[in-house]
Amino acid sequence: MTKLRLAIVGAGPAGIYAADILLKHERAFDVSIDLFEQLPAPYGLVRYGVAPDHPRIKGIISALREVLDRGDIRIFGNVLFGRDITLDDLKKHYNAVIFSTGAIRDADLDIPGIGLPGSYGAADFVSWYDGHPDFPREWPLDSSSVAVIGNGNVALDAARMLAKHADDLLPTEIPANVYDILKASPVTEVHVFGRRGPTQVKFSPLELRELGELRDVDMIVHDEDFEYDDAARAAIASNKQIFVIDKVFTKWREEGVEGASRRLHLHFYAKPLEVVAGPDGRVASFRYERTRPDGAGGVEGTGEIRSVDVGQIYRAVGYFGSPLDGIPFDERRGVIPNHEGQVLAEDNEIMPGVYATGWIKRGPVGLIGHTKSDAMETVQHLVNDQSSWWSPADPSEESVVALLEERGVEFTDLDGWHKLDQHEIALGAPHERARIKVVPRDEMVQISRA
Ligand SMILES: Cc1cc2nc3c(=O)[nH]c(=O)nc-3n(C[C@H](O)[C@H](O)[C@H](O)COP(=O)(O)OP(=O)(O)OC[C@H]3O[C@@H](n4cnc5c(N)ncnc54)[C@H](O)[C@@H]3O)c2cc1C
Repeated sequence: MTKLRLAIVGAGPAGIYAADILLKHERAFDVSIDLFEQLPAPYGLVRYGVAPDHPRIKGIISALREVLDRGDIRIFGNVLFGRDITLDDLKKHYNAVIFSTGAIRDADLDIPGIGLPGSYGAADFVSWYDGHPDFPREWPLDSSSVAVIGNGNVALDAARMLAKHADDLLPTEIPANVYDILKASPVTEVHVFGRRGPTQVKFSPLELRELGELRDVDMIVHDEDFEYDDAARAAIASNKQIFVIDKVFTKWREEGVEGASRRLHLHFYAKPLEVVAGPDGRVASFRYERTRPDGAGGVEGTGEIRSVDVGQIYRAVGYFGSPLDGIPFDERRGVIPNHEGQVLAEDNEIMPGVYATGWIKRGPVGLIGHTKSDAMETVQHLVNDQSSWWSPADPSEESVVALLEERGVEFTDLDGWHKLDQHEIALGAPHERARIKVVPRDEMVQISRA
């Protein structure tokens, strides 16, 4: 029987689901899958993006773990595609590759002052509080008033983590350095800005409602943002999510404030104009233009300029994928150009043997569950394309191990991940915490390879 030797690059949910779907797929060939991951631990943004105080979502790791624990997929962690292994290497040892490298960096926001000291990308902040090994251990929380720009769930995550009392994060898996810095945080005012109206937000209702449940944090919304036009009323009547979101806002408006020590302000109809520096050259305020509904489902500027004093700005305007060596990249959308997961070369022709799935295929939108349907589509093409797979010179399973060892790559495997997992759980146990994450990469590798 023919055998498909498949490489998957990126062990986030998209890569793991793709492997699982292929193994369960009806097919007339055997399969052997190697999963390459640049980090010593798998699970991508479920481990390093989903907020630590969302244990239910983090729990998806258990389902992903079950797939890996079946033992029919080999993992090579701490292996960076483009440096430790290349496209030419993959062509030598595999019949095909699926890229599922996701997205980790912030999309740009093109306004003056966005590069000032004190202005950050929310993705960097997320990577810091989720203990990503490639990000600094320190985070300079040095201002009482901060702004978050964006009206999606990442903006809510960042705002919640900035407003929440550190002790309320203790039951979670946050690393010790993150707890210490949040515990000493001077932040009392968190301002969230969205360009459009309250019925046009991209928040999910659950995440929004959660803000109102934060201990000792008052939610502040402004009546002027709730003078609904016909389009807003129609959205509330026709869309269940918007209906619930409006109910949450209504409750906050009715309740008023309770004199909490921290406040989370939601500002709508606020188009970012400029981040303004103070005399020390650091972020001192945020200028925005008041907008209003344009009657066609969008907004238009009113010319009224407002400003709020803040010492830090976090832009949460989306994630963006990164290019991979030898693989086409759409610079505008931050994705690998593809047709239903079949990667397209510059001439728009399908590149034989090369596939994409997850956020790097579709762009950084959508929930973990969406990466499953993505993977189904990509895997279906891979199975159908058997006649155009690569013909590797050395498809043996040992050859890849030999290659990485020869290059001195300190790769980690499934056993190594189990060791790290147990180590983190043991670190948490005396403190009655589910786990405490190990952050430094060399420590992760050392524990995994012990
Ligand atoms: C802040 C935040 C919060 C979120 N919260 C939720 C939530 O509550 N619920 C929900 O359903 N979804 C949530 N999501 C969305 C969810 O995380 C994504 O849908 C999902 O992780 C995308 O999966 P992916 O596998 O495509 O990418 P990723 O999860 O990004 O995985 C990609 C993997 O590829 C690896 N990689 C990248 N480049 C290379 C390379 N060159 N070589 C080797 N490996 C590489 C990365 O290290 C990573 O492990 C959130 C996302 C973010 C950013």
